[in-house]
Amino acid sequence: MNRYSRQILFTPLGPSGQERLRVARALVVGCGALGTHSAELLARAGIGSLRLVDRDVVEWSNLHRQGGFEESHAREGMPKAQALAGWLRRINSEVEVDARVTDFNFTNALELADGATVIIDGTDNLPTRFLLNDVSYRLAIPWVYAGAVGSSAHVQLFSGSRGPCLRCQLPTLPPPGTIATCDTSGVIGPTAALAAAWQAASALRAVSADGIAALAGKKAMLDPWAASARVVDTEADPECPACAKGRFEALEGAHGERATLLCGRAAVQVLPAGPSTGGFNWEEAMSRIAHLGPIEMLGRVLRVHSKDGFTLTLFDDGRAIFDGLTDPVQARTLYARFIGQ
Ligand SMILES: [Zn+2]
Repeated sequence: MNRYSRQILFTPLGPSGQERLRVARALVVGCGALGTHSAELLARAGIGSLRLVDRDVVEWSNLHRQGGFEESHAREGMPKAQALAGWLRRINSEVEVDARVTDFNFTNALELADGATVIIDGTDNLPTRFLLNDVSYRLAIPWVYAGAVGSSAHVQLFSGSRGPCLRCQLPTLPPPGTIATCDTSGVIGPTAALAAAWQAASALRAVSADGIAALAGKKAMLDPWAASARVVDTEADPECPACAKGRFEALEGAHGERATLLCGRAAVQVLPAGPSTGGFNWEEAMSRIAHLGPIEMLGRVLRVHSKDGFTLTLFDDGRAIFDGLTDPVQARTLYARFIGQ
């Protein structure tokens, strides 16, 4: 227990909080700046287990703000969940770390969240956050939303049992292109790390003490560049489709898209048709794309640089990322041509 002595001395946590933390299970969805820093803080604090879900590989443009990644990861294009898992195991071997290199979507969300005590939002888009909100209220697991763009960030814990939830504030998805993203406005590392620290503190308090009741409804708005920070109370909407009416549209696939532009880079992800679990014919796919160019294999990840100007990365669940493309329709067409379906 010496390892945790300084946080056990912190009275609101104490020995009983540390014990509750030791048996807690966090699901981290997205291993970008928020997910990597939050996961590191939770691993250092001695959480029981961390399940890391991320669909992407480490890029050079991630290194300025994302924790746990090194130049070699970007050079090799290592899957983020895998790279982060290795780092966390070196930090704290007592924590059980489960890395899942997959897309978090309505077909697998409930299975991935099964058994979690708290969910960390490390995503970069609203459709996935709508899905996290549904999972949270369907399974009664608190989740901690965080978003960072430019120099400002928002963080809020949602209880999973009562309002307010994310949908109380945002009943419908804004049309594409109407909200600022890290794609259009950039983001600075300290803001993302600050948001992740607030997020990890909320998660720690939620699993080890009285955090859910104390924090629910409070939204933090932080901007270290502008030297401003405030916390506002948000209200539950009695007509909210998710927390009030129990209608989980995102879990039913209402916002699911097979082809999506990835935030922060010129790349499109295409999902295979049907559930993203098993059944993908790896050998056949390899033979179909062999003519595109030389194939690189990195464990269960395959990459080919096409002479047509894009790089195709294929994962063993049938998912593909087309780097160098920005048109989802074109990416789906290429997927159909080279991989099938
Ligand atoms: Zn709600």
